[in-house]
Amino acid sequence: MTHHYQLATAYLPQGWVRDAIVTVSAAGLITKVALDGAAADGSRPDDEGTEAAHGIHRIDGIVVPGIPNAHSHAFQRALAGSAEYRTSERDSFWTWRDAMYALANRIEPDDLEIIAAQLFIEMLEAGYTSVAEFHYLHRQRDGTAYGTDNGLWDAIAAAARATGIGLTLLPTLYQTSDFGGAPLKREQARFRLETDQFLRAVQNRVAAQSRDGANLISTGAAFHSLRAVPYEVLREATLALRDVDPALPVHIHVAEQIKEVECCRRETGHRPIELLLHSGLLTQSWCLVHATHATPEELRGIAALSATVCVSISTEANLGDGFFDTPRFLAEHGRLCVGSDSQSTVSPAEELRWLEYQQRLRRRRRGVLASGTEPHVGTRLWRDAALHGAQAIGQPVGAIAVGRRADWLVLDHQHPSLAGAAPDTVLDHLVFAGAERAIRDVMVAGQIVVRDGRHRGAPAVREKFAALMQRLALPLPPIAAGEAANA
Ligand SMILES: [Zn+2]
Repeated sequence: MTHHYQLATAYLPQGWVRDAIVTVSAAGLITKVALDGAAADGSRPDDEGTEAAHGIHRIDGIVVPGIPNAHSHAFQRALAGSAEYRTSERDSFWTWRDAMYALANRIEPDDLEIIAAQLFIEMLEAGYTSVAEFHYLHRQRDGTAYGTDNGLWDAIAAAARATGIGLTLLPTLYQTSDFGGAPLKREQARFRLETDQFLRAVQNRVAAQSRDGANLISTGAAFHSLRAVPYEVLREATLALRDVDPALPVHIHVAEQIKEVECCRRETGHRPIELLLHSGLLTQSWCLVHATHATPEELRGIAALSATVCVSISTEANLGDGFFDTPRFLAEHGRLCVGSDSQSTVSPAEELRWLEYQQRLRRRRRGVLASGTEPHVGTRLWRDAALHGAQAIGQPVGAIAVGRRADWLVLDHQHPSLAGAAPDTVLDHLVFAGAERAIRDVMVAGQIVVRDGRHRGAPAVREKFAALMQRLALPLPPIAAGEAANA
């Protein structure tokens, strides 16, 4: 059934608009946006009430697009907060990774479904309305491959369906433990995926998707990194994926760590992003995740291709990765999106806030990421993360506009965090002043999944998640003797 909504205040591509009437199809797509107060069938809303006589629902809050989460590893939600102590003076990304592997090797499909459901609820309540799941857990705990149905992949899709979040599942190729074709380590055995199996699975999923017309769950593909996928394999697989769908989203972790950049240069003669740029394989369907240690030339090259970069600043900060040069990338008209990655933070507002704060602290200036045409930093960052996130995950979301899905947030305009806010500053309040607490309702594909700040499934999932976390009892790395004495 088609629905008409009158949005009291909304952020549309043309800016802040009052009383737009938005028509949403039964499939959850926006089919018309009328700015003159008339719906597609010519009916007009009543002056009062949320359900008008002519079938137009009036939404009194402030409506803004939901944010696509362009990079997530759902299972890592079970580690968030548990690896924040020092095990030795050499703690780094690489030692955190050992703790993450210990977790990865304990999880069964049923566990993953509970973890993902809890996480997706947290995402929806925080304003992420869709997610690209960069999924590299493929095998059973003993290393045996699953049959035609991969229980772990199905668990992610089941959690997305149950919670109502949009999902782009990215089956992720992972074959080596380092550059030069180093074999996987024992603790990485569950990540292994053969190239033909990977291509077949992506192809089957894409074919199934067009058959049943489902638009909430779609498929892309990912290469874990250049250290986990030999370059020749990446090249051939990319060409094969083009035959499946030239617009298929393709993601890769790249240049997150200095050690990775150096190993790549030693092995191939090129830095990782340089290698990808020279390969001629990159298109605007690619999303480079992190790109932390990119050179100015590399940033220019990515921007010129209109590929996206996903910065997950909360994870990059948490793991001590380094600084992405956001101002330079934006000055090149680079397309930036955000993701929750390791799930230490699940909040688009916080990701965007720290993109700007990192620069303010470094430059001792304010308003660094505003643009000539958009002086409001919060507005600029939210708008871009929504649009470019949509590009990265390959779904028609990211704006309240015809042809896009009705994925939006309704902010409570009477919430203290928005009190007295001029419409122009609403997204600034959302990013910088705690107005994420004002997210009242969340709609995905025209369905309300969060009402009055709570997801309908939250209580039941929360109980299962708490029980699971007790049961998992993660074996975390021990603290070195000298460190304990310092504590
Ligand atoms: Zn990641």
